[in-house]
Amino acid sequence: CKNSIPTGPIETTLCDYETVESVNDRLFANLHDLVQMPFFKYFQVDLYRECPFWSDDGSCSDPGCAITSVDESEIPEKWRASALSRLEGSKIDDRHELPGCYYRDSDFCFLDDNTEGDYYDLSRIPERYTGYSGPDAARVWRSIYEENCFGVSELNLLSGPNPALVSLPDTMSEPFRLEGGGADGGQCLEKRVYYKVISGLHASISTHICAEYLNQSTGEWGPNLQCFINRVASHPERLQYIYFNTVLLLRAVARIGPYLQAFDYCSTGNHDDDTETLAKLSNVISIAQSAGRFDETVLFRGEDANILKEEFKVHFRNVTRIMDCVGCDKCRLWGKIQTTGVATALKILFELDEKALDPAANHNLLQRSEVVALINTLHRFSESLEAVEDFREMWKATSAAE
Ligand code: FAD
Repeated sequence: CKNSIPTGPIETTLCDYETVESVNDRLFANLHDLVQMPFFKYFQVDLYRECPFWSDDGSCSDPGCAITSVDESEIPEKWRASALSRLEGSKIDDRHELPGCYYRDSDFCFLDDNTEGDYYDLSRIPERYTGYSGPDAARVWRSIYEENCFGVSELNLLSGPNPALVSLPDTMSEPFRLEGGGADGGQCLEKRVYYKVISGLHASISTHICAEYLNQSTGEWGPNLQCFINRVASHPERLQYIYFNTVLLLRAVARIGPYLQAFDYCSTGNHDDDTETLAKLSNVISIAQSAGRFDETVLFRGEDANILKEEFKVHFRNVTRIMDCVGCDKCRLWGKIQTTGVATALKILFELDEKALDPAANHNLLQRSEVVALINTLHRFSESLEAVEDFREMWKATSAAE
């Protein structure tokens, strides 16, 4: 646990751990307020699409997995499915459609086509312990990590996942690793980045589970230090990847800042809400501009850069589809939001040049769902770092008492 305070530069970024630590309290406070605002708290998603990779998704019957949607009548008219499908269908020409979802060539994820799917109030659905576990949850994680097998050119979502994935054993004894071990075993930078992104997301989800854990014997909710030590702190690199993802998301928010500031938040009909949303968002953007130092230009540069980028995209899109195989509604919801949020950040960093980012030239660059997912995902990571701080205090108190 003493390893749980990383110091110095964060690998592949231009930032260090201390900088992230120094801004996180302020970042979290602003994000926490921002995601309560109507624009950012309502998210539309089809949670009940079929898992394209296997038939038994091991549905979680634990009450902790259940969630309730909000009635569409509570949602401002202009976000409703009928209005959105009228708007989007005609404007996007490089759109590849699958039942219920689509992607554009620049996307790292599948997006809902907004004709199906319910709205959820994210502010009322905490990401925490649900009881979803065992071979079904492990199979989902395993297939996500298996997506780092770059070079498998036949791997293409439209023709299904790597067939090897479907026949994976349901139980695992070994931690998931890239060939050669961890994220560093002689892999190219892009593949290491892929692993860090996934492992950091996994570690952040685990941190939320341990921060709001259900004590089965007392029925009480609270932080579980041992859970955090076992899942995250005893593997220092996992904790480091939470910081890595935070910097990646911050850089994306900084880069897309002017576009976000010009985005249409005037949807709720309440002028005060809209002004407040924009003010809080501007605070987040300015923190992102100071701490989001990630050098995206070092990736996808070599001879095979374009092939590698396309492959990276296919893999990440597959990850967003694997979310349909998560057998717990609440976990699936947050899984979808966070994979969409990270995919949106990757698109901002690796697909969009300065000209594309100009809000005047390209005001349809991001869907509302991408903006909502990006900000809520950054909020999740920032919240994980807050929880890490609390766990450090708990650990100190426990050690002092011994
Ligand atoms: P798991 O977390 O299932 O991990 C499986 C194996 O992966 C471990 O044995 C280890 O070898 C390796 N591993 C673990 N962490 C990392 C890492 N960071 N980097 C690299 N390798 C790692 N459960 C909830 O209670 N609430 C939720 O909100 C929730 N959301 C989920 C969302 C998704 C998308 C998925 C797939 C699962 C979710 N789960 C959730 C389930 C949860 O993530 C765990 O699978 C479950 O708690 C069982 O945990 P575990 O300790 O057996 O190991």
